[in-house]
Amino acid sequence: MPRTALVHAQSALGPKKRADSSDTISANKRHKNTRSSNWADALLKFLDDPSDPAVVYVDDEVIAIKDKYPKAKHHFLVMPRDTKYRSAKDLTCDDLDLLRHMEGVANKLVHDNNENDDPTLEYRYGFHAVQSMNHLHMHVISQDFDSACLKNKKHWNSFTTTFFVPIEELIIAVEKGDADFSYRENRLKDGLKCHRCGRAQKTLPELKQHIANCDCDPFAKV
Ligand code: AMP
Repeated sequence: MPRTALVHAQSALGPKKRADSSDTISANKRHKNTRSSNWADALLKFLDDPSDPAVVYVDDEVIAIKDKYPKAKHHFLVMPRDTKYRSAKDLTCDDLDLLRHMEGVANKLVHDNNENDDPTLEYRYGFHAVQSMNHLHMHVISQDFDSACLKNKKHWNSFTTTFFVPIEELIIAVEKGDADFSYRENRLKDGLKCHRCGRAQKTLPELKQHIANCDCDPFAKV
């Protein structure tokens, strides 16, 4: 398993910083006229508005929010603030520091949100092979998948199959110059199975019951 595929609570960054980059905001204003107002643009509103209560971290380059429809106990989205990053396909080798910074912000979120929680709770950081929402966003999600918002097979497979592209895999792909993972879209149709022991489950309710009791080694992911 890749070193950071499952991440224990750890601190990588200093204290929360609330600063605006005038450069980023001006660039975003330039793009604003081209934005449409459909549901897929809902994440864009956070980029210039760190005062929104959903925002949990902000600095000059990156903003992090709580996912509005969390698919686990802890689910955040970390996004670059520059609107030029529409999806992973826009990333180049010049953006590797940005990706590593996003990973550092994810480490901080995990650390800050786990203080009163189970210290063994695992997290994964990654991107969906095909985004449903506009603007690049990295999911930071705890592996309990204990959430009423996780309602269907597509939700489950988007986080537990290779449709979920871990940050370290994306970094390697960007280094190679090809961060297009859209060929993985069919993984959303895979059969339901436990992300820990790999046992097939017939329905989502059965799967949820199984994962609540699955005592497999959480690090023995199959
Ligand atoms: P993706 O499939 O990678 O594009 O995931 C988009 C994520 O955005 C999902 O986890 C949604 O629950 C989340 N989401 C959708 N609308 C909002 C919103 N208005 N605020 C915060 N998160 C949202």
